[in-house]
Amino acid sequence: MSRIPEKEFDFVIIGSGLGGLACAYILADEGYSVCVLEKNTQLGGNLQVFSRDKNIFDTGVHYIGGLDKGQMQYQFFKYFGLIGKIKLKKMDENGYDVIRFKDGKEYRHGQGYDKFKANLYADFPDEKQAIDTFCDKVQQICLQFPLYNLDAELNADYFSDQDFRSVNAYKYIASLTNNVRLQNVLAGSNPLYAGVRDKTPFYVHALILNSYIISAYKLVDGGSQIANVISHNIRQRGGELFKRKNVVGAHYHDDGTIKEVVLESGETVRGKNFISNVHPAVNIDLFGETKFLNAYKKRIRNLENTISSFTLHLSFHKDTFEYLNYNIYQFNRDDVWAGIDYDKETWPEGFFACTPASSKSDKYADSMSIMTYMDFSETEQWKNTHNTIAHNENRGEEYEQFKREKSERVLQAVEKVFPDIRSKIKNMYSSTPLTFRDYIGNYDGSMYGILKDNNDPLRTFINPKTKIPNLYLTGQNLIFHGILGVSIGAFVTCFNFVDRNKIIEKVKA
Ligand SMILES: Cc1cc2nc3c(=O)[nH]c(=O)nc-3n(C[C@H](O)[C@H](O)[C@H](O)COP(=O)(O)OP(=O)(O)OC[C@H]3O[C@@H](n4cnc5c(N)ncnc54)[C@H](O)[C@@H]3O)c2cc1C
Repeated sequence: MSRIPEKEFDFVIIGSGLGGLACAYILADEGYSVCVLEKNTQLGGNLQVFSRDKNIFDTGVHYIGGLDKGQMQYQFFKYFGLIGKIKLKKMDENGYDVIRFKDGKEYRHGQGYDKFKANLYADFPDEKQAIDTFCDKVQQICLQFPLYNLDAELNADYFSDQDFRSVNAYKYIASLTNNVRLQNVLAGSNPLYAGVRDKTPFYVHALILNSYIISAYKLVDGGSQIANVISHNIRQRGGELFKRKNVVGAHYHDDGTIKEVVLESGETVRGKNFISNVHPAVNIDLFGETKFLNAYKKRIRNLENTISSFTLHLSFHKDTFEYLNYNIYQFNRDDVWAGIDYDKETWPEGFFACTPASSKSDKYADSMSIMTYMDFSETEQWKNTHNTIAHNENRGEEYEQFKREKSERVLQAVEKVFPDIRSKIKNMYSSTPLTFRDYIGNYDGSMYGILKDNNDPLRTFINPKTKIPNLYLTGQNLIFHGILGVSIGAFVTCFNFVDRNKIIEKVKA
């Protein structure tokens, strides 16, 4: 295990999810000394991959938007030194997402607003006005977020204007048309943010959907490339990254600032400033209950998290299953918001399926990942077990049996879309809410962190500054989740230390 140098770093970053890595890159590039501490054996958080049957499986990133040349994610990735270093594959322009219902009808979300609209006009010829209004509104909302548009606007205050954040996604879409099928198709990719009917703000839908409409890409051979290339670039700038370093506490100076973090191994790491990429509720326990105001603790601990997932990973016999250059969102009810409140008897009520892009073949898929919603409470009986590569613990046969039963049910649901899929499967693997909890380090395996709520948008806004003067936050709980949301969040965190105009000019260059 590598030793951490005995020195005071300018920045100590806890967690190497994209948020932590992006902050480390921005700060190292500006000449600061940075140290990233990661508890797992692999860097990247949700960017981690695992390998089975010589196939690479993604855990938490399946496709990324805004990666056409000059678009916002492209410019962020260019700034991080990723463009040209990671392998990308543009998804089907005619339909990168296929929204599919029990009756077998399929609706394609096309890339580019012209294609997106044209597909919908063809499917819903009487709904042109609703489709146009929807698309205009999505684009109008996106303009309200300066960094989303690579605008460093000095006085940009993401959360001062509450108006559009109070607009509910389901209600807004329902107000545009009485055609329930169209409503469902417009909201059909809502598993991307685990949408909740009476809570999810329309802006969350708009920011995420727009990023894919403008362009949608898969990573060829897995998302860990992003973590590997950024960490290489951080090291080139003098930054240091350490794996198997589980932060468990902190020591303080008399003035209330953090002096050093304490690792499970007993080592300590000193810093002038600390940035945590960990869930805000976990931070309270890591950095000490007494250091936070009661009101803050109560608010953070009572915030609802997005639901977790049961994910089935299929490994195929060679050259048997054709590669799909699109994702499938399957719904068994004519209500895309219903699956999250599933009935255990009828679970899964839908799923997201994708075949990862592989450099081995363009024609055939090595594997398929199928995500379904699953509440943490279903795995409650094993909650005291912790199993990762760094901290290995067998959860027992009953848990394995639970996984087998759930896998079979998911597979039966998938067979309704691909009737001959079973014969093509070499092996099946699965992950539960406990897997997500243990690898990410939150309390309930939440996929996307804190649930945004249009009923009280300010409550779900997490400020990167904390009451501890030298502790800052970053990651998916800040602005919004996903590769784009977390990239933007990292800049918002770092603007506390660097000249925002200068950095954004670099990003745009
Ligand atoms: C199933 C799934 C599918 C997804 N699909 C997509 C997609 O297709 N496209 C997309 O854009 N986004 C997707 N996302 C969302 C996206 O992956 C996340 O929003 C994003 O990667 C989160 O980054 P983060 O910076 O918040 O860090 P995280 O990925 O949450 O990582 C946090 C890191 O902190 C480390 N850590 C925690 N506690 C400690 C500690 N005490 N000491 C040291 N280290 C610690 C963890 O080990 C982890 O490495 C998906 C997410 C999930 C779960």
